[in-house]
Amino acid sequence: MLSVGIGSGLWEFKHFQSWQRAYSLPAQNTNAAICFPENNIDVIPKLPFSNYVPPLYTGPTANDVLKKRKEFLSPSTYYFYEKPVNLVHGKMQYVFDDDGHRYLDAFGGIATVGCGHCHPDVVKAVINQTKNLQHSTVLYLNHAIADFAEALASKLPGDLKVVFFTNSGTEANELAITMARLYTGCHDIISLRNAYHGNEAGIMAATALCNWKFNLVQSGVHHAVNPDPYRGIFGSDGEMYAKDVQDLIQFGTCGHVAAFISEAIQGVAGIGELAPGYLPAVYSIIRNAGGLCIADEVQTGFARTGSHFWGFEVHGVVPDIVTMAK
Ligand code: PMP
Repeated sequence: MLSVGIGSGLWEFKHFQSWQRAYSLPAQNTNAAICFPENNIDVIPKLPFSNYVPPLYTGPTANDVLKKRKEFLSPSTYYFYEKPVNLVHGKMQYVFDDDGHRYLDAFGGIATVGCGHCHPDVVKAVINQTKNLQHSTVLYLNHAIADFAEALASKLPGDLKVVFFTNSGTEANELAITMARLYTGCHDIISLRNAYHGNEAGIMAATALCNWKFNLVQSGVHHAVNPDPYRGIFGSDGEMYAKDVQDLIQFGTCGHVAAFISEAIQGVAGIGELAPGYLPAVYSIIRNAGGLCIADEVQTGFARTGSHFWGFEVHGVVPDIVTMAK
């Protein structure tokens, strides 16, 4: 799959300037950056003491890596900072650069490293598996996939007892909306403004953040008003936002929909909570319109909210499909 992307990418980047890469206009105009006041080093808090010493790094320097990346990777693979950090080692909550500097990984590998870097239990499980059997297929039996499905199902409520494995959150969401469309016989999906659900051609339609959308045909998704309890147009009145979903169904569809998809807390869009009472009201509206309710737990699942295993549990709803990744 990657080689196809690289092939067409080479052609694209030879013939197009960066402004022509079909980003939406607001995204091109955004000049976002995280700034620390240069002369005020005191604002950066000190890390607690740690006696962990990372192994001596003898690999390529940051400059060498950057040079190679610029030559061989797509320019769309961007990086943070003018002088990006060359991360070469991780230990639990810390990552280390090529000079041995320690950083607190508050990003968690984009909310991916849920139990720290190189957790000994994870390392042990990976080593044991790779020593034993490195690849198989669902066409033959192996206990691992069935055990994992059973373990996941045991954590899910209601009838959510069947697992379908994919390679990413994007694929999981793509599959979820495809299944909802096939099951209901409807095409229309409702998602939220400010949502992120992935970046492939189909699911990109459900994503509603301009810098993650490209100028491609994206069909069949209506974006409801974001029920942001802090900045939203109806304050924290969940029922009022839900009414917008009812209006969308009434005026923007034939009256039936395939699905509603939402995160329990919007992750990519800056950790945005949903107004209280919103999800229960919307789930009932969607089900009355014959649709399925999809919970995107890619960032909120696996106890990452702290209080619950799944983000939707905070809202007291049970979805029809739950997608997860990372
Ligand atoms: N949904 C949400 C809420 C996400 O945050 C992401 C990724 N940031 C995705 C879907 C897509 O997941 P992936 O990057 O694994 O394709």
